[in-house]
Parts: sequence; C-alpha cells; structure tokens
Amino acid sequence: MNRRVRVRFAPSPTGALHIGGVRTALYNYLFARHHGGDFILRIEDTDSQRFVPGAEAYIMESLKWCGITIDEGIQEGGPHAPYRQSERKEIYLKYAQDLVASGNAYYAFDTAEQLDALRKQYEERGETFAYNYAVRTQLETSLKLSADEVKARIERGDVWVIRFKMPENRNVEMDDIIRGHITINTSTLDDKVLYKSADALPTYHLANIVDDHLMEISHVIRGEEWLPSLPLHFLLYEAFGWKDTQPEFAHLPLLLKPQGQGKLSKRDGDKFGFPVFPLLWNSPTGETAMGYREEGYFPGAFINMLALLGWNPGTEQEIFSMQELIDTFSLDKVSKSGARFSHDKAKWFNAQYLKVTPSEELAAIVLPMLKEQLGVETTLERATAAVSLIKERATFPKDLVELVRYMFIAPTEYDEKSVAKFWKPENVERLKELRALLAEQPEIKAETETVAHDWVVSHEYSMGQIMNTLRLAVLGVSQGPSIFGIGAFIGKDEMLRRIDVALEKIGK
Ligand code: GLU
Repeated sequence: MNRRVRVRFAPSPTGALHIGGVRTALYNYLFARHHGGDFILRIEDTDSQRFVPGAEAYIMESLKWCGITIDEGIQEGGPHAPYRQSERKEIYLKYAQDLVASGNAYYAFDTAEQLDALRKQYEERGETFAYNYAVRTQLETSLKLSADEVKARIERGDVWVIRFKMPENRNVEMDDIIRGHITINTSTLDDKVLYKSADALPTYHLANIVDDHLMEISHVIRGEEWLPSLPLHFLLYEAFGWKDTQPEFAHLPLLLKPQGQGKLSKRDGDKFGFPVFPLLWNSPTGETAMGYREEGYFPGAFINMLALLGWNPGTEQEIFSMQELIDTFSLDKVSKSGARFSHDKAKWFNAQYLKVTPSEELAAIVLPMLKEQLGVETTLERATAAVSLIKERATFPKDLVELVRYMFIAPTEYDEKSVAKFWKPENVERLKELRALLAEQPEIKAETETVAHDWVVSHEYSMGQIMNTLRLAVLGVSQGPSIFGIGAFIGKDEMLRRIDVALEKIGK
C-alpha cells in the first residue's frame, strides 16, 4: 500500500449505535492502527427527518468506552474540519451542479403528489414505478424541459432535486476486498436523488462520496447493507473524474440472530434478555434499551467478542487485547458470510476478563455494592481477599456480591436441597469430630485442608460428604470454593461458631 491509510466511521445520528455499528467502527479503527493510518469520525446528519437528539453524544461515548480513539472528528477537529455534514452544507451544491453540467445528473421538478400519483398508476397496472432511464425524459426534468424553462423554474423558487443520470444498460465492474469481483447492470438501478432544494441539503450518496474524496479516505469499510449503493458510488467517482483516488471498498458481513437466521435486532435483545447496544440508551421518546456497560461487561471483553464476530485470526487464540487485535487484524480474514451472535459467548469473554482483572480492582467495584445491597461495611483489603477466593466463579462484577455474601454474613438459613442431601446422621457425627479437630488447630488456613484430608483418609471417611456438610454448616449452601480458604478469611472462632449454630439449627 503506497497511499496513506485513512478510514472513516460515518454513522448517522438516528438512534443508539447498534453493536453492528460498533463492530464497523472497531474494524475501521483496527485497520487504521495496523497500518499506522488515521481513523476519522464523520457524522452524517443530512437526513433531518431521522435526526435523534442525543444520538451523536451516545456514539462518541460508546467509542470512548470501547477504547476506540479518534484522530479527526467533530470534537478532535482536523485538517478537513468540520466533520459534521450539517456544518458542511455549502460544500455540496457545487458538486451536484458540476454533475449536471457534465451531463451526469439533471434537475427534476416533480412534486411529491405527482410522484405518488405515478406510483399509484403503476401499481394499478401491477408494475412498480422506478425513476430511471425509461421515464426521465418524459417527466418534469431538465432532460425534457428547455434550458430557459429550467432556469425560470429555479428562479421562481420551484422545488427541485438533482438526480443522478444512471447510464442505461452498462455493466459496472467493481472490486470489494471482502466480496471479490462484482458486476451489476445499471438498467436494474434507478436515478437516485443527490441534492434537494427543499432543505438545501445533499442526500447520503452525494455527501458521502464528496466527503470521502475531500477527506482523502483510502478505504471504505462499512456494513453489508451498503453494498447495493456500491454501483452508484463507483459511477459517482467516475462522473466526478476522481477514479484515480477512489477508495477501496470492504463490505462487512451482517451480525446474525443467535439462531442464525436474519439480522440481529433490538427486538432479539429484548426477547432474549441481552443487550444489542454498547451503553444504556434512553431515547428522547422515553424508550430505554440496556447496554453492555451497564450490564457489567468489561470494554475489553466486549470488543474482544465483537472483533471475533466476522473476523478470525486463523489461529486458536480467542483472547486478544486491543493491541493484539491491532497487530493481528487484516481484512482478508474477514468472512463473507454473516456472523452469528451468541450471548453465552459474550458472557464467556467477560468471565475470562474478570478472572484476570486484579482482585483489588474488582473489590473497589464491589465495595459500594456490598454496603448498598447487604449493609456490609468492610475495608478494601478485606474485600480484595474475599474477591480473590471466588472470582473464578463470577461472570460479572455484580455476581461477586452474592458470592462473597457468606464471607461477611453468617447464614441464617440453609439451602433445603443441600440439607436433604448432606445433613444425614452419620455426616453430622463426622462434622462434630471435624469440629474438634479444627478446634485443636492454632488457626485455620488454606493448608488446613491437608490436615482434614489426612484425617478423612485415615478414618476411611468420604471427603465429598464431609466437606459438603461442613460447607453447608459454614456457608448455608453446599457449593463454593475451598472451605478452608473461607475459614482462613472468617477466622477460626467464627468458623467454629458457625458450625455450632448449624448443629443447633439444622441439627434435628
Ligand atoms: N451514514 C451511513 C451509515 O449510517 C454511512 C455508510 C457508509 O459508511 O458509507 O451507516
């Protein structure tokens, strides 16, 4: 590659950013960083009807949370500022007019009512109306009307649009980095609107091409839903005479529903109870949607999961830091076929990240929750010790609260199933013997397990039965980490006291 790599993430602020959009941003970012290039955030807000307040801030906060840093953008500025299309309004008209002058576009004056009437007529005949080569010379366009008439209409303030004059029956030959070679015949395409006088704004197609050109974008990496626009975009580059600097294109596979059929939607998230947005979203109309951040995902786990939805490193490695992703990422390992989302896999990634997060960091998260949810006030040091005993068992930091609960609060109730299973007369007898053995120890520590083990073996008792009974007495449940680790944490006196209470309470 001899050209400087410059890529852009170009969302429209029409609502919360779907995780598919985050993945697009991520792949652009990884590609840029891998090649030492630039990552640009451009806000495409020329569709005033779909504009949603708060969406832009949401997009930026999401990228920030993910650790995706922006080189040029609406906050960062840059050599091609402004990066918000609504602030670039004045730029686009000239380009649309240039296309009219070169015969690649034309004015159309049809009103919405006229177009509706046409659509209806076609429908009645069982056909679909398309604004294309077959009709454009017969409609209210500069291809039919005289130059004077066109001028007069514009001057008197008639509403007009500029449409692209799609060539008739031409094969457009395109290359996509992910999809390979594609040929489309232009007769299947209609004459898209490029500019609208009504709001003095370009449409997506014009603004997108003009800005990619002006911002010297080298690669366009975007979702598969934009593939149908590719022939038009190719022809626009040609019409402008920008072929030699046209970016390369890569269309990313869809994110599919957990069952594998169809695009992953917000409704799937609601239905199955997993987030499809990076952050909690409160829409201006009062809707809310859950976010990965608020559900307790680590940003690293979230992007690690997303990176592997559609890209595979070609090895068995699954856990990647951002730097490792940057080092390994390449577009030729992005698959053509859709990537199926899995909530279980997302949780798995989070559990892996939780395991390697320093216990002290987790304890700092858990400390206020302990106070709020359990009324437990303790020190960071104690919370760290507790967390380190059980973090292997947690997926989210919030799980830790329940898991450490019985390290701080003695049980007052005992799990019924465990009682039925283990609280049998012979186990209770053994528990009393074990209590005596523990009472002889100067202190309880993790190694006390060996003492208990030797004792069990020498008496030919069952280790499983006895340890579960002990755990039930001390924790109220029969699962959990090593009971002696917990014993060390709560101390010998408390451990013996809990055994006595259990013998008293469940005893009979
Ligand atoms: N504004 C478009 C979107 O919302 C950008 C598509 C593109 O990257 O060309 O996805």
